[in-house]
Amino acid sequence: MVIANLLKAYGFGRLQELVGLKREIEGAGFTLEDVDTYVEAKRKALAMRQKISGLRQRRCPECGKIMMLMPVNTGPGDQTGDESKSVWMCNGCLSAEYSDVPVKEILQDLAKKLLEKTRDEK
Ligand SMILES: [Zn+2]
Repeated sequence: MVIANLLKAYGFGRLQELVGLKREIEGAGFTLEDVDTYVEAKRKALAMRQKISGLRQRRCPECGKIMMLMPVNTGPGDQTGDESKSVWMCNGCLSAEYSDVPVKEILQDLAKKLLEKTRDEK
């Protein structure tokens, strides 16, 4: 195969960028395989971050819409009149489940379960 056929789909600027990047990588003593490993690790970390931010949401048992986990009793605007520290609030039917466990602890617990589940799946 002629190299021109392989590269014809890529713009000249992009190819120049590739050559420059390859020079920079190899000049620093790394290989394209190192870049591949780095990108894969980054992709996994991003996927995990997305999963963890998804832990703040779940389906409402009443209406099936999204419930969000939010802190309460943190300031004048979110007083509940009790000792609650967090609430699962439905965006659809406004049903609410209050808890005296802070959001941070709930998320840490959910993240721990998620990590255990991910480990078991491997
Ligand atoms: Zn609902």
